[in-house]
Amino acid sequence: MSDLRELLTVRPGNARLADIDPRSTPGLPGKQAIGDDPKRWSQAQVATISEQLNAYQERLFASAKEGATNRRVLLLLQAMDCGGKDGTVRNVTQGMSPAGMKAVSFGPPDEEERRHDFLWRISRALPPAGHVGVFNRSHYEDVLVVRVHNLVDEGEWSRRYDQINAFEAEQAAAGLTIVKVMLHISKAEQKKRLLARLDDPSKHWKYNPGDLAERARWDDYQRAYEDAVNRCSTAAAPWYVVPADRKWYRNWAVATLLRDAFADIDPQYPAPDFDVAAERARLLAAD
Ligand code: ADP
Repeated sequence: MSDLRELLTVRPGNARLADIDPRSTPGLPGKQAIGDDPKRWSQAQVATISEQLNAYQERLFASAKEGATNRRVLLLLQAMDCGGKDGTVRNVTQGMSPAGMKAVSFGPPDEEERRHDFLWRISRALPPAGHVGVFNRSHYEDVLVVRVHNLVDEGEWSRRYDQINAFEAEQAAAGLTIVKVMLHISKAEQKKRLLARLDDPSKHWKYNPGDLAERARWDDYQRAYEDAVNRCSTAAAPWYVVPADRKWYRNWAVATLLRDAFADIDPQYPAPDFDVAAERARLLAAD
């Protein structure tokens, strides 16, 4: 395991969100490596990591040709409102081939989804072999917003942690690498970002008056997040809590976590199933 994964992973039962400073920057190289402008440093790093991610993505895609492997990768993002999920997706997937990558957002379940188990819509949205998926929100909403607003009774949501662990373990055994990231922002940072949305007409579309009612339940949400990451950080699918008040740190950290997950898989181009030299000779001999 790389240093960053060690530093950010949730050890089940031990994580207290209040003890993780959203402005902190765990695992960041020293000032000597970074220089005076951390934002610029992060941009350059993320650009380099993106190139690595794109190369990995292509090899993963190629390796799954004709059903040769069932490997696939899922980056799952959860955060409070204004936590930076969209910005993270943009940064981390920049340049990935849309043919092998798909980002999916989950809102309140529609009528058909409500007729099924909460994991039904999730299973359908998982990336197929060779693909990378990004979840902007996920089945964890079913133990977050659902718990905070009592959308189902406690008996039901409290069973979901074990159901989620079983589901993720089954998927992991079937070739899915799951990188689960909670973008951890402070209440003060959320206020700043909500204000920025109100003060900039080009951001009004992102503001929803209901956001303030959700913000009023901040402590309930933090408790629900804390339980989710503690109860569902498993060997098959660990949770990472990424301090996210500083966007440049967040982008670097999430890109690094995803890159490290790919490095473990280390997908390889498949060997050609034809005689390269013979094909070359044939092509040269043709018109
Ligand atoms: P985002 O805030 O992610 O940019 P939206 O503004 O469309 O996107 O918000 C999606 C909403 O859907 C959130 O308020 C979230 O709590 C809600 N949601 C997601 N999953 C569920 C679920 N399973 N049950 C109820 N609400 C959900």
